[in-house]
Amino acid sequence: MCFETIGIARHRMATDGEGVTTLVGGYGCPLDCRWCLNPQCHGGKSTGYAVESLYDKLKCDSLYFEATGGGVTFGGGEPLLQIGFICDFIDYTRSLGLSWRFYIETSLAVKCDISALASRADRFIIDVKDMNPEIYFAYTGRSADIMRENLMLLAHLCPEKLRVRLPLIPDFNTPEDVERSADELMLLGVTDLDRFMYKKTDKICDK
Ligand code: SF4
Repeated sequence: MCFETIGIARHRMATDGEGVTTLVGGYGCPLDCRWCLNPQCHGGKSTGYAVESLYDKLKCDSLYFEATGGGVTFGGGEPLLQIGFICDFIDYTRSLGLSWRFYIETSLAVKCDISALASRADRFIIDVKDMNPEIYFAYTGRSADIMRENLMLLAHLCPEKLRVRLPLIPDFNTPEDVERSADELMLLGVTDLDRFMYKKTDKICDK
């Protein structure tokens, strides 16, 4: 099994969590966001790594990870498309006695066994777009059902591991919509909410 990546970025400081992290961007995404900032994940080139070869690529920063409480962030694209690999990779590093932390940057829009990752990952950084199904569909071109199903399960299993990002999306939602999403999430027991604004750029994904 290989992990298909659009790129690896080292030495990220306090971007995803504590300490120094390396971002491994997964290839592919099931959504069709209007303001997609990663169009290369839909049709560009990817590089495949087996578990041991990805470990060999990342291990040069192991001392940084261990000294700062950092580790590896699987992002994208959508990393849950390759959830089996991620579980295997975490298990592999743990079998080596390493204390790397693992972060998952995800939209949760993939039908998968999310509970397998809930027990392994240290944090999920989730971009839900908007909890309103109509706004979600208008912006992503997909139903919100899978995202909501995974979110409910994670909120039940490990609410303390969830950081949910709530974007204000130009032309698609309003500050009031963002607050409605926040209220719904807090009712689910999710308290780590990150409100921010998407920047409208010319990099519109044209798939
Ligand atoms: S912005 Fe949307 S379509 Fe683009 S990679 Fe992220 S979730 Fe996928």
